[in-house]
Amino acid sequence: MNDIRKIADKLYDTRSASDEELKTLIDINDAEHLRERAVERRMEYYGTDVYTRGLIEFTNYCKNNCLYCGIRAANSEQERYRLTKDEILSCCGDGYTLGFRTFVLQGGEDMHYTDEMICDIVSSIKKNHPDCAVTLSIGEKSRESYQAYFDAGADRYLLRHETADEEHYKKLHPKSMSLENRKRCLFDLKDIGYQVGSGFMVGSPYQTLDDLVSDLRFLQKLSPDMIGIGPFLPHEHTPFKDFEKGSLKRTLNLISILRLMFPYALIPATTALGTLHPLGREMGIKAGANVVMPNLSPTGVRKLYSLYDNKICTGEEAAECRGCLDRRVKSAGYNLTVDVGNVKR
Ligand code: SAH
Repeated sequence: MNDIRKIADKLYDTRSASDEELKTLIDINDAEHLRERAVERRMEYYGTDVYTRGLIEFTNYCKNNCLYCGIRAANSEQERYRLTKDEILSCCGDGYTLGFRTFVLQGGEDMHYTDEMICDIVSSIKKNHPDCAVTLSIGEKSRESYQAYFDAGADRYLLRHETADEEHYKKLHPKSMSLENRKRCLFDLKDIGYQVGSGFMVGSPYQTLDDLVSDLRFLQKLSPDMIGIGPFLPHEHTPFKDFEKGSLKRTLNLISILRLMFPYALIPATTALGTLHPLGREMGIKAGANVVMPNLSPTGVRKLYSLYDNKICTGEEAAECRGCLDRRVKSAGYNLTVDVGNVKR
């Protein structure tokens, strides 16, 4: 017990710990002191502010076949949809009225949208809402494409590395994908000038404690502005349908560890965490997270963006989602802010 206190304090003081110390923290049962230190650090940087991002899941077509993901190309059971530019702009308009100042466009790797189309959508959102940030999360692209989106006005890019261990990466992805290219993308995005978000799933099939330490070490090299983690959740029409869900304890411990290693980071309490446990997002915030990403997609398509089974928040209108999260954040002792929510380095 004393040891655990010491490691948490060391992480608070130095922002680092040995591999063995990190492995100990990832699995502790009594995480009270770790949580306290994480909350203390988060208060120093962000006070009680929680930033909100309007998530627009604009296409569930995908050319890839990630073994964990429900919208993988090979899932022929999945009904597919894509939103038009006008539908996306209308989601942003509604979101703006509700107080959102960041819009996240996320989707599968859908070749229907050319770079020109993405640039046109991005620049139109920026034209309508010059005081807002636009975040893209549309997977692996060439450096030239990333540059074009950036020049069109995109501010941020989310691309989880998923796992930083080469062998583990191969177990989660088809041969056509590589960790090397994923990393290349992340460093290109940083170099171009994006605020970059990365992250990983907790409890993905075959993941070991050593893999999680590799994830933390990789993040130290990348030094991203945003770090998104959430539990792995199985999807019935994927090869991983029979694997266990990721653990709540590990996910929360890792959120606190991330807060202490990366005090400045924007760390979301994810939808996957809220799906794993009814109060998962509140627990995430209390463990050190400072961002929530409610859904702004039209209600009609929400269920179709099914990365995993039983995803929450697929029935409510955007306004209801916003109100619900407002209450949830307040109940945890924090405040949802109307703010573009840039990183505080
Ligand atoms: N195509 C984009 C967006 C992917 S979806 C991209 O490649 O970045 C966003 C995130 O959902 C993924 O990065 C992955 O970490 C997570 N995800 C996918 N399937 C999941 C599952 N079964 N359980 C939990 N998280 C999952």
